[in-house]
Amino acid sequence: MPPSHASLPPLAGLETASLDWATDEAGDAAPLSARFGDVYFSRHDGRAETEHVFLAGNNLPRRFADWALARPFVVGETGFGTGLNMLCAWACFDAHAPASARLHLVSTERYPLARDDLARALGAWPDFASRAEALLRQWPEPVAGVHRLELDARVTLDLHFGDAAERLALLEGRVDAWFLDGFAPSKNPDMWRPELFGALAARSHPGASFATFTCAGVVKRGLAAAGFAWRKAPGYGRKREMLVGEIAGPPDDEMLERRGATPWFAPPAPRPARHVAVIGAGIAGTSVARALARRGIDVTLLDREAPGAGGSGNRQGALYVKLAAEPNDQSRVYLAGLQYSLRWLERLDPHHRLWAPCGLLQLAMSEREQTRQARFLATQRLPEALLAEIDAETASRLAEIPIAHAGLSYPISGWVRPAALCECLASTPGITFHRAEVTALSATDAGWRLALANGESLEVDQVVIANAVAANRFAQTASLPLQAVRGQVSQLQLPEHAPALARVVCGGGYVSPPLDGVLTFGATFQPNEAETDLRDADHAANLAELERGLPALVQALRDAGVAFEPAACSGRAGVRAASPDKSPYAGPVPDADAWRRDYAALGKDATRVPDVPGRHHPGLWISAAHGSRGLASAPLCAELIASRICDEPLPLEWPLVDHLHPGRRIVRDIVRGG
Ligand code: SAM
Repeated sequence: MPPSHASLPPLAGLETASLDWATDEAGDAAPLSARFGDVYFSRHDGRAETEHVFLAGNNLPRRFADWALARPFVVGETGFGTGLNMLCAWACFDAHAPASARLHLVSTERYPLARDDLARALGAWPDFASRAEALLRQWPEPVAGVHRLELDARVTLDLHFGDAAERLALLEGRVDAWFLDGFAPSKNPDMWRPELFGALAARSHPGASFATFTCAGVVKRGLAAAGFAWRKAPGYGRKREMLVGEIAGPPDDEMLERRGATPWFAPPAPRPARHVAVIGAGIAGTSVARALARRGIDVTLLDREAPGAGGSGNRQGALYVKLAAEPNDQSRVYLAGLQYSLRWLERLDPHHRLWAPCGLLQLAMSEREQTRQARFLATQRLPEALLAEIDAETASRLAEIPIAHAGLSYPISGWVRPAALCECLASTPGITFHRAEVTALSATDAGWRLALANGESLEVDQVVIANAVAANRFAQTASLPLQAVRGQVSQLQLPEHAPALARVVCGGGYVSPPLDGVLTFGATFQPNEAETDLRDADHAANLAELERGLPALVQALRDAGVAFEPAACSGRAGVRAASPDKSPYAGPVPDADAWRRDYAALGKDATRVPDVPGRHHPGLWISAAHGSRGLASAPLCAELIASRICDEPLPLEWPLVDHLHPGRRIVRDIVRGG
C-alpha cells in the first residue's frame, strides 16, 4: 500500500571531501578538491565572484529588500562545499531584508567537508567569523539525510547530505532562487545530469530564478528541457559569460503527482497563522510552541498543569534511540531526530545547564541483542563519532565502572533534564502559558474555538494538539489510536564520595550519571496502565534491572553505604503515549470520516487508488505518541509541523514525512477491511 521507499539509502556515513590546499600568487592557501581537481573558491576574489554570479545573478539584494511574504525566502543550492555562497546569501539578507523577513537555505552536498577543513577554509573570510562559527558549531556528522541548522533567529539552513539529484527528489519544499554550483560539468558530469534539472524544476516556486557560473551546453540543454528559460550574462573576472534565468511556466503540481500512489498524504494548503494554540506543555508541546514563536507567531500554550508536569516531568531522561537491525523509516526518523535534538540543545543551552552530552552506551545484555547489534553494524555504516561498536573493556573505560557487556556507544548523546527543559521552552518570548484544560475544539470561519474546563473559550487561527495520551480525546482526533504506557523511574540519594558513572548506560533500563548527588534509573514499561502512584514493586524492578546491567556499580554503591532497596528510593511515575506502530504522529489531523468515504474503494481493491487528495481538519495539527523517546523525536517533529504551518521546506525527506502522518493507520485499516 504505502509506497516502498527504495529511494531512501541505508543509514550510512558519507565519504568526506579530500582537500589539497593550493597556494595562489599571493601565497594564500585555497581549498582544492583532490577528487575533482577543481577549487572550491578563489582565495583572492571568491566572495566577489559569489556576489556577482549567485547573488546578483538571482537579483537577491533587490528581492530580499522587497520580501513581504509571511513565509521565508528560500534559496536552494547544489554543492554546499565550504558554505561560502550560503554565508554570502545570509550576509546579503541581513543587509537588505526587512526585519520581519526570514531566510531559508537548502543545500545539497555529496562529499561534506570534515569540520577542521571547513574551519580552515572559512578562516579565509575573517569578517564572516561569527557566521562561520554558527555553522561550525552545528556542523553535522557526514550522514546521508537532512540536517536542519538554526543559524540565527531568522535564518535556517537545511543541509541535504547526498547526491544533489537524489536529495532534491526527496525534498518536500520549494525554492525561490537556485545557486547552481558544483564543480565544472567537464570535471563533474555525474552531478549535471537530466534528473538534476528535473528535480530543480519540480521544487521551484512559480517564478523561481537560477544563476550558474557555467555556460556548458549540457547545462543549457538540461535547464531548457526542464522548463527553465536561460540567458547569458557577463561572467566574473576572466570568465566571459555565465547563465541566469527563471522557470518558464508554472511548475507542475508535482506534490500531487508524486503522491499519486498515496493521495491521502497530500498536504493541506497553507493558511494564516498569526495566533496558534498549543495544547500540552510537555516536550512535544513546548518544542512546537518554541518553533512557532521563533517564526514570529503568537502562541498560547495550554496545560492543565505546569510545563513539564506530565510524562516529560522527570529530572533526568536519556537521549536514546534504538535503531532497527535493518534500515527502516522509523529508524531513519529517530536517527535524524537524535541528531537534530543534539544540535537544537547545543544551540538552546550551550552551557549545558539543561543537558549533558556525556555519551551513552547501549549494552548488548542478551545473545539476541548481540545478534541484533551485529546485524545492525553489518548493514548500516555510521560515522564512529555518532555511533561506534565497543567491547566490554571500552565500555568499562568510557563509563568509568567495570561493565561485562559489549555494545554500542553514542559518543555525542547523553541526558537531559526534561522538566527544566519544558519550563525553559515555555518561557520563550512570544509564548503565553495558560493553565487550563481544553475540553473541546470547534471549527470557526477563521480558525478554531477552544472550550476550556473553566467555562472560558479561546479563539485562534490554528491549533497543535500535543497532550500525549489525552491527544485523541477530541472529536477530531478520536480515530487516532494511542496506548497509555506507565513508566516509573527510581532515584537514590548518593553519599558524597559515591562512585561516579561517566556515561548514560542503557541495557534493560537506563541509568544516567548522578545529578546533584541523585542517581536516576529506570524506567518501568507498563502498557495500558495510566496511574501515576509510586510503587515499591516498580522500584524493586528498577533496582534489579540496574544490578543486572551494572553489578559493579551497585556493589560500589553498597560499599559506599547506599541502602539498595525500594524503601530508600524516591521517584516519579509518568504516562507516555504510544501509537500501534511505535512511531510518533506528527502532521495535519486527517478528517477520518472523509477519508473513510473517499478511500472506501480501497477496501475492495487496494490497487485502485481514488484520485482524491486527503482531506484534513484545516489548521489542526498533532504531535503525539512519542513514547519514551520524545527527547529524540519531539523537537524534530516540532520543526516539521512549524515548517508545514509556515509553508517552508520540511526538515525530513518526504517519505519520512509520510511515515509520520497521523492518518497512516486509517488507510491501512480500510485496506484490511477494518
Ligand atoms: N558552493 C560552494 C561554496 O560556497 O564553497 C562551492 C562548491 S564546490 C565548487 C562544489 C561542491 O559540489 C563540492 O563541495 C562537491 O563535493 C559538491 N558536489 C559534487 N558532486 C555533487 C553531487 N553529485 N551532489 C551534491 N554535491 C556535489
